[in-house]
Amino acid sequence: MNPPEAQLRKILELERRKGYADTAVVGGLDRYLKNLIQRDNLGPRSPVTESIMVLPTHGYASLPREERQRWLARTLQLLGGAVERPAAASTVQRARAAAARPKRQPARPAVVAPEPTSAFERPVTALKGVSTALAAKLARLGVATVQDMLFFFPRRYNDFASIRPIADLIVGEEQTVIGAVWSAQDTPIGRRLRGTEALVGDETGMMRVVWFNQPYIAQQLRTNERIVLAGRVTLYKGQKTLENPEYEPLESEELLHTGRLVPVYHTTSGLAGRTVRRLAKQALDAYAGALPELLPPDLLSRNRMLPRTTALRQMHFPDGWDDLKAARRRLAFDELLLIQVGVLERKREWQERGLAQPLRLPEEMRRGYVESLPFALTGAQQRAMAQTLADVARERPMSRLLQGDVGSGKTVVAAAALLAATASGAQGAMMAPTEILAEQHFHTLCRVFGCSERTISVATVRPDYLSKPLTIALLTGSVPAPVKRELREQIAAGDIDIVVGTHAVIQEGVSFHRLGLAVVDEQHRFGVMQRAALREKGRNPHVLVMTATPIPRTLTLTVYGDLDVSVIDEMPPGRKPVETRWVPPDERDAAYEFVRGQVQQGYQAFVICPLIDESETLATRAATQEFERLSSEIFPEARLGLLHGRLGAQKKESVMRDFRDRRLDILVSTAVVEVGVDIPNATVMMVEGAERFGLAQLHQLRGRVGRSDIQSYCLLLSDSPAPDARERLQIVERTQDGFALAEQDLRLRGPGEFFGTRQSGLPDLKVAQLSDVPLIELARTEATRLLDSDADLARPEHAQLKEEVSRLWERVTAEAH
Ligand code: ADP
Ligand code: MG
Repeated sequence: MNPPEAQLRKILELERRKGYADTAVVGGLDRYLKNLIQRDNLGPRSPVTESIMVLPTHGYASLPREERQRWLARTLQLLGGAVERPAAASTVQRARAAAARPKRQPARPAVVAPEPTSAFERPVTALKGVSTALAAKLARLGVATVQDMLFFFPRRYNDFASIRPIADLIVGEEQTVIGAVWSAQDTPIGRRLRGTEALVGDETGMMRVVWFNQPYIAQQLRTNERIVLAGRVTLYKGQKTLENPEYEPLESEELLHTGRLVPVYHTTSGLAGRTVRRLAKQALDAYAGALPELLPPDLLSRNRMLPRTTALRQMHFPDGWDDLKAARRRLAFDELLLIQVGVLERKREWQERGLAQPLRLPEEMRRGYVESLPFALTGAQQRAMAQTLADVARERPMSRLLQGDVGSGKTVVAAAALLAATASGAQGAMMAPTEILAEQHFHTLCRVFGCSERTISVATVRPDYLSKPLTIALLTGSVPAPVKRELREQIAAGDIDIVVGTHAVIQEGVSFHRLGLAVVDEQHRFGVMQRAALREKGRNPHVLVMTATPIPRTLTLTVYGDLDVSVIDEMPPGRKPVETRWVPPDERDAAYEFVRGQVQQGYQAFVICPLIDESETLATRAATQEFERLSSEIFPEARLGLLHGRLGAQKKESVMRDFRDRRLDILVSTAVVEVGVDIPNATVMMVEGAERFGLAQLHQLRGRVGRSDIQSYCLLLSDSPAPDARERLQIVERTQDGFALAEQDLRLRGPGEFFGTRQSGLPDLKVAQLSDVPLIELARTEATRLLDSDADLARPEHAQLKEEVSRLWERVTAEAH
């Protein structure tokens, strides 16, 4: 230990003996520390400096006794030599205390009130040289605390690692030069600009350096000073030149801006990239060392992961590209693991809340049902059915996502599970987002089970494979109130076996006698949190979520990570693929002629108006105008209908009904029509402004047609397609595979666009890529392993992980509400 540190140690020990009263030195410890730094010129990496950095602005004197004790113990530790552990709560103890909190406590941000003593939660002004004005600029970048600074990662790196003599510089490459300033002056550049022009030389030659618009640099460069310059080398009038290079004096203790892989951060106006870089460095030097490791050692070594602190340092100031890669992998893994642990915990909580009633479909009934269908099941349907039936037969409540492209035949699979419920003396519910979809399911179930008697809202079916008849009820907002009341009573008494209806009506107004299974349709906009809320409603039913949106595997592992997944990836035979064509502007009239021809043959068509900046009001206006134009100018002979988001629910439903029942030939609509209504007689889907839709969305729209064996068409219109828009539309032209399109969409637009991040229930990812399937799978495996071995993350080596998982999910929950 060198002298100032040895002296400090003595003083701190005295302070401890005197009971943390700030009486060890005259004038107080703060003044002593300040003098110590100034007098002895300690570098940022001295333990003394590091320790002082974590003190609040008003110093040791401002700390309560307990925190003085903690700070002092830590500083003594940094100074070397064993010390007793402070009595105050350690991270581990804090995490344990957090773990002891009652689980069902509603998550409110207040619960996550930051640990007041955590150095990482300090405002950025705790960093040297950060004024309030600078802090305001940093806040614009989302950096408010020291921790934010540590996790504010570069957006890219300049490769200034290769240092070359001037004579060896290669034009066009990013390189670093060390040289002496020969001259530097503030000079006019071009007609209006001023800048700095300098000559720099080393023993191999001379070069010109210019900084546009930065005449003040001339004052900062002293003649004969040795500086390091980094940038791309260009040729100017045959002479090697550096334009606007990064630069720093050679005496810099460690090269930050040159001579290495130099981080480039997002900045905002009035905030120089150099400043952000310097602050990142300072935050790393002063704080990163104290950042607790998130992962247990065995996990780290098993997967050859960098320690967290190392990864953080390498992320900002990598020693090389490989180090950067390793750092990214580690930090991305952390993000994904936190998600996985959270999602799996939720799944387990749900499963442990209580047992579900096992629903068994006797084999002869299953066979009877399958044989009664007017078609043979596809292989994918058989698989999904087997998985679902096996799941509901267990006591552990099922939580399954049934994915299948539009028309792939999910209803038949769900119906088998509903049969299992009724065969076991339980009730089933099937919920849809709109009335018309609920009606559609009602009809489909009646058909699938071979309906015998029915009224508008109740059907009785007696399939011969069942020993007793089944009663199915339809419960939507437009069922007359007295009928509704009666149905509710019958449902509560257990006289109705299967209830089909809208989410709203079933979730709010119905109590079941014995609900064994809830089927939820078209719920792709439901995130983890919404599902959790849904489950709170039922006692403990099995849940089957059906979605027609092909969901990329990476999302089923994350956003849908609390669900098991069945995929129907095969279409019933005989379906003709929807012929899809991009229509260039000059063929618009031909497209209208084509639609007219289809209508004349008795088929129907959709015309979808463009998305307008997410504003349904503008979209509505556009759709209304288009409707009027098409009605009067283009298709005066046809019957047109108009559908948009501003119509009331009833009006919307009645327009859809008119179209379904063929009272309309052409339906002009905004994108609201996207969700799955089955209109087998519709053969044309015409999409205006197609370039504004996502690929998955276009595929959804296309799925509205081609629902029978008649050839159907999808026409994509786009008046001013940029080359890349054109390219995207051609992808839709080429492929009918919804999964492939969804993957593309996710890659092109990111998860936020794909789902709306808010709704997805997915925390922001800074480093991890949702396209990185292997890493997501690794996180999944490790999360499972962790929870298998330590279900409550109660072991000390899991304490930090536990704390961060709960902090993350409390935030996500708060945002979802
Ligand atoms: P979705 O998956 O879009 O909900 P549905 O379950 O509504 O699809 O099925 C679409 C149509 O295909 C229905 O009319 C259904 O009867 C029919 N269908 C389902 N499975 C098959 C099959 N294996 N072979 C032929 N037609 C089928
Ligand atoms: Mg469907």
